Amino acid sequence: MIKRISLTALLSLFSVSLLLAQPADIERVEPEFWWTGFLETELQLLVYGDDIGSSRASIDYPGVQLKQVISVENPNYLFLYLDVTDQAEPGTFTITFSKGGEVLTHDYTLLEREYSSTRHQGFDSSDLIYLLMPDRFANGDPSNDEIPGMIEGVDMDEPYARKGGDIKGISDNLQYIKDLGMTAIWLNPTFENDMPYNYEIGAGFYHGYAATDMYKVDRRFGTNEEFVEMIRKSQEMGMKVIMDKIHNHVGTHHWFIKDLPMADWIHDQSEVGNTNYRTDTIMDPYASEADFNATVKGWFVDEMPDLNQRNPLLADYLIQNTIWWIEYSGIDGIRMDTHPYPYQEYMAAWTRRLLQEYPDFNIVGEVWMQNVATTAWWQYDFPTQSGYNSYLPSVTDFPLYRSIVSGLNEDAGWDTGLARIYYTLGQDFLYTDPYLNVIFVDNHDLTRFMTSVNEDPAKFKLGLALLLTTRGIPQIYYGTEIMKMGGANDPDKRRLFPGGWPGDEINAFTEEGRRELGEKRNLPIPEVFNYLKTISEWRKDKEVIHTGDLTHFIPENNVYVYFRHNSEETVMVILNGSDEAQYLETARFNEILSGYKKAINILSGKTFELESPLYVSEHTAYILELSK
Ligand code: CA
Repeated sequence: MIKRISLTALLSLFSVSLLLAQPADIERVEPEFWWTGFLETELQLLVYGDDIGSSRASIDYPGVQLKQVISVENPNYLFLYLDVTDQAEPGTFTITFSKGGEVLTHDYTLLEREYSSTRHQGFDSSDLIYLLMPDRFANGDPSNDEIPGMIEGVDMDEPYARKGGDIKGISDNLQYIKDLGMTAIWLNPTFENDMPYNYEIGAGFYHGYAATDMYKVDRRFGTNEEFVEMIRKSQEMGMKVIMDKIHNHVGTHHWFIKDLPMADWIHDQSEVGNTNYRTDTIMDPYASEADFNATVKGWFVDEMPDLNQRNPLLADYLIQNTIWWIEYSGIDGIRMDTHPYPYQEYMAAWTRRLLQEYPDFNIVGEVWMQNVATTAWWQYDFPTQSGYNSYLPSVTDFPLYRSIVSGLNEDAGWDTGLARIYYTLGQDFLYTDPYLNVIFVDNHDLTRFMTSVNEDPAKFKLGLALLLTTRGIPQIYYGTEIMKMGGANDPDKRRLFPGGWPGDEINAFTEEGRRELGEKRNLPIPEVFNYLKTISEWRKDKEVIHTGDLTHFIPENNVYVYFRHNSEETVMVILNGSDEAQYLETARFNEILSGYKKAINILSGKTFELESPLYVSEHTAYILELSK
């Protein structure tokens, strides 16, 4: 329960609190600072300190009004609601807390917002995203591997332990990522995760999804300032940055979980248990209330308390935390973890607010659903039965992922083999904007793509060619470019990038290292690396791939042909998923092909006359720029 107390009501209680007066101490004020000039002028300040809840607060600053003071069940919290009007100038003011004869003050700063063409750019289908897990990518600063006072250090022998990767490691290798043709990086969460581990049960929190402080970068990754500097550097190099956020849960050692503001800040695990992970219950017209409640209120795992976003104080806290990071760091987009698990009305309010303040921004929700329909349900403007609008621009395209992996591995049939991809894309009418779907062949939660295609380099390349030429915003997982393998278990799919650690025998960040790695593993790593780089670099300026129409033809003999075209140009993509070279009759593609005489294969650089039939090698992709 939230007890709302107005300033006047609080004043009348003053005589009572006088009797109980004890010196208080302010441990935290969150957000630590704020800005002038937001559309939404309301600002919540969470004040945390010993027995601060019964203090009287006051502010005297032009343009800033203290609208409401809220004390809650736990006397160590006080919530202030300020109106930072458009009359407020950037500057510092003093908040005074008085109780009995004691007076505490806290200086609070309003900054001027920073506007720049390289900040808050959003991301779209013109981008190619490189996803990396900070703990596993590169250890640029071994001095932060162990931080006094933090629970876990580095253990190189234990798969679930931290490995020491950090922001410096990312920053040092931005040029490598850029040279691979990437235009954006998405980092798995960088918040403090100072959690106790239990490797026996796989409970290691190197992954970052159990925050213990949502305003602080984990010091084993670096400082907030280093994080911002790395983002700025990346943006100046022409690469956007996408930050990972989680509002469904935090870690059990989050500071506010250890001293809950009020009982309904989280869902009571003893009542609700853990989630059933069946997010279909959210849109299923026949779902039972019990199943729905378990999905939304159940804890993700025992170490991750489920937040109750229906608590309005928490909802404001979480929304502001996001705005704070966007404004503070300049990030271009957010990937929201477990997007369907929190209350849907909260997620809509959060999304809407961010896009109002930052119209060019983009957000992709991790919508891990089985089907196109249930995935599309989460994209903005979907005609839901309830009238619910998620406002969410981008969704993760798990149905296409599944189709790619199955389609490359199974025998071709009426609806199997590459036809599976054809049929999945054919359901795009369900999406409000399928071009905003984030598409992938693997990520930090999935079997690595090389393992998914049974270590077959030809199938691997087919998948990459498809990913980078079909509709959507492609995402590459770090290490895919060097054919990293690994099954679905957490440590396997999140192994270290070779060359990221001092003393690594092979440095795959270099051409020489990739050659050595290829020889050692007996894999065509340099060739695959260059294959990906060739398409990535070519894709950067290919508006026809970003926004052009997609026209595809029913796969025959497991050959899938599609065109990307606009008024300026046409690209023909041929994916031969069969075990045999074939001659492809071109007459059936005439609605697009007619008038074109020549083609250049961007993968080989070879120019040839468009003839019928076209010879296509087995397990090979062709990306052909057509000319008249
Ligand atoms: Ca380190």
